[in-house]
Amino acid sequence: MVLPESTVKLGTSKSCIRELAAYGAVRKAEIGAENVFDFSLGNPSIPAPDCVNETIAELLKGDSVELHGYTSAAGNDSLRKAIADDLNARFGTHMEAGLIFVTVGCAGALAISFKATLLPGDEVVALAPFFPEYKVYVENAGGTLVTVQPREGDFQLNLEGLEAAVTERTKAVIINSPNNPSGVILSAESLTELAQVLHTAEAKYGHEIFLICDEPYRELAYDGQEVPCVFHFYENTILCYSFSKSMSLPGERIGYIAVNDRMPERSLVFTSIQGAARSLGYVNAPSLMQRVIEKCLGATSDVSKYKENRDLLVDGLRAMGYQCVKPDGAFYLFVKSPIPDANVFSEHAKKYELLLVPSDDFGCPGYVRIAYCVSRDMIERAMPHFKQLAIEYGLTK
Ligand code: PLP
Repeated sequence: MVLPESTVKLGTSKSCIRELAAYGAVRKAEIGAENVFDFSLGNPSIPAPDCVNETIAELLKGDSVELHGYTSAAGNDSLRKAIADDLNARFGTHMEAGLIFVTVGCAGALAISFKATLLPGDEVVALAPFFPEYKVYVENAGGTLVTVQPREGDFQLNLEGLEAAVTERTKAVIINSPNNPSGVILSAESLTELAQVLHTAEAKYGHEIFLICDEPYRELAYDGQEVPCVFHFYENTILCYSFSKSMSLPGERIGYIAVNDRMPERSLVFTSIQGAARSLGYVNAPSLMQRVIEKCLGATSDVSKYKENRDLLVDGLRAMGYQCVKPDGAFYLFVKSPIPDANVFSEHAKKYELLLVPSDDFGCPGYVRIAYCVSRDMIERAMPHFKQLAIEYGLTK
C-alpha cells in the first residue's frame, strides 16, 4: 500500500513527552503511583472554575437539538462579540466579532493560522525553546521551521539571532509567551525589538511578515507580572488563544484566533483563516463549549496554586545547585542539565523515579522541563530524590 510518507512518519514518530508519560504509567502500575514523580505532562491539575460545570448543568436543561447542533464556522456571533469586547476592555484594542474565529483549542488555532498564511517554501522563524508541534503544523502547511536560540541567561529575545534568521523567505515568526517550556514572559523591550526587525524586513523584502502569537498561558502570570498585548507592538499579528490552561479545559478543545484590528489586510487574512479551517475539516468548534465560554469568559482556575509550586521548586532546586531561570508564568520550569546531553540526564533521573522531559524537541538542547501542574505534596516528596540526583552529579553534598 502506498500512503503519504509524511503522515506515516508522523504517526510512528514518538513524542518524547508522551513516551515519558507512558513510561510513567507503566512504572506507577509497578511500584505505586505515590512512588513516581511524574513531571512530564502539561495537564492542568486545578479544577475548572465552578462556573463551567454550573453552566453545563444549566445548558443541559435547555433545547438539546440546538445545543448540540452545528454552529457557524467562525463560532456563535454572540461568543465572538463577547471575546472581542473582553479583549477591548482588557487591552484597549478595537476588536470586533468579525476578527474572532473560534477554534478547536490553541492547536487548532495554530494549524489554521499557518495554513492560512504560508505558501510552499515559506519559512517560519520560531524562538527557541518552542512547543514541538509548531514544526508539524508549519510543515503541514508547506513551510519550513527555522530556529533562533534564546538570549543567554534570561531567555529573552536574541536580537542578533533573529536578525540573522529573518530572510526574504520568512513569512511568519511564531512566539509563545508565557513560554512552554521556560515559563519566561517576553518583555516589552523584547517585543519592541522584535517588531523593529519585522518592520525593517517587511520594507526590505516588500512583503508582509506575520507575527503569530501563541498565548494559551496568558492568564498564568505570577507576582503581578504583565503579559504585554502584542497587538500594540506589531500590526500584522495573529493571536492564538485557548481556554485549555486558564480554565483547565484541555480536553474540551476550545480556543480562538484573533486578527489584529490594526492589520491593514485583516479582512483578506480572516477570509483565508476561514478557508484554512475548512480545508483542515474543522467545521466548527464544539457547540456546548462555545456556550460555556460565553457565559464564563473572564473566569480562571485558581492559578495561585501553580505559583506556590513554582516557588517551592525554584527555591528548593536552586539550593541543591540546579540552575534555572525563575519562570514568571505558565507552569513549567526549565532546568539546566548538569551534563551537555539532557537525554542522558533525563534517563538517569528515572533511577530516582523523577520524570523530567529532555529539551531537544523544544529546539533548545541541554535542559530538562519540569511541568509543575502537579500536587504540592508530590513536589515535597520529590525533593529528596532531586537531592540524591544533585549529589550524584556533584551539584551539592
Ligand atoms: N501552545 C503551547 C505553547 C502549548 O503548551 C500547548 C499545549 O500544551 C498548545 C499550544 C496547545 O494547546 P491546546 O490544548 O489549547 O490545543
